[in-house]
Amino acid sequence: MNKVSRRLFLGATGALGAVALAEFTGVRSSFAQKKQEINLYSSRHYNTDMKLYKDFEKQTGIKVNLVEGKGEELLQRIKSEGRNSPADIFLTADVGNIWQAQQAGIFSPVNSSTLNQKIPASLRDTAKNEWFGFSTRVRVIMYRKGKINPNQLSTYEDLANPKWRGKLIMRTSTNIYNQSLTAWLLGINGQAKTEQWAKGVVANFARQPQGGDRDQFEAVAAGIADLTVANTYYLGAYANDPKKKEIFERIGVFFPNQGKGQSGAFSNISGGGVLKNAPNRAGAIKFLEYLTTPSAQNYFAKGNFEYPVVKGAQIDPVLKNFGNFRSSNVSLSKVGPNLANALKIMDRAGWK
Ligand code: FE
Repeated sequence: MNKVSRRLFLGATGALGAVALAEFTGVRSSFAQKKQEINLYSSRHYNTDMKLYKDFEKQTGIKVNLVEGKGEELLQRIKSEGRNSPADIFLTADVGNIWQAQQAGIFSPVNSSTLNQKIPASLRDTAKNEWFGFSTRVRVIMYRKGKINPNQLSTYEDLANPKWRGKLIMRTSTNIYNQSLTAWLLGINGQAKTEQWAKGVVANFARQPQGGDRDQFEAVAAGIADLTVANTYYLGAYANDPKKKEIFERIGVFFPNQGKGQSGAFSNISGGGVLKNAPNRAGAIKFLEYLTTPSAQNYFAKGNFEYPVVKGAQIDPVLKNFGNFRSSNVSLSKVGPNLANALKIMDRAGWK
């Protein structure tokens, strides 16, 4: 099925399924057990994920029913379905979104030695074991080749340097990606330095923040600015698209904060957890554990040009060409609690 028809199909059956299951409230768990199925609410929308679900079904006999939607919509739906929700698992992208879901109280702790051993501690919720990262995306500096010598680049912090006046563009502060980046920096550098950083970054803008990640590096490729910050997978997808290849060729990827004593690059996750009201908790845990097998990691990460989290899984050649780098090992658990403050800092700096 293609993406559009799959969405419509899932949208329709998902809604009906929710109603039908809600009527079974009393026997909900035995119903799910007998049928051996899990209901996965996911904001991921990659065709490779479908292969993954089929493979899981083959291995375990547990059928995966997928409900796709935007992260916020699915979270709202889980909240409004409440105790009658048929959802077993919620998967979404960015630790900021995952943290907001956790704050809404939808997750339940999972104590799995498989998950704890295979997923690096910095990419999961070590405090409560409520969420886990299954792939990473790195928020990197992207620059116009030929215009910027990568030797001039160093850290996220350096983007506030006046030497970049009028050369930098960023997307808006309303988007979670830059909020999470700022919240992460806040955890590393503290309040005063992050305030200064945000002001310096805004002072360097070549234009008012606008558009998504793709729009940033497309503008850099078009010569509107020299530098931006964006997630690796967006550019990765341009490598194999003949229509976008020219843009891809113009953009250089720089992994910041690689120097001695520096934090490493900011790796965010795509991930989620088992829901408090999951009808098939055991099946849901099995599925999350399955996601950490090398073959599942290959599908899960590759479908979106993301990096796998488990050692031994393959990396897409496009990502390999971006080069080797060191990720920050600052726990992503520290990002969520800093989000509100990070947004205030961005507001005060005039970051639209
Ligand atoms: Fe994205």
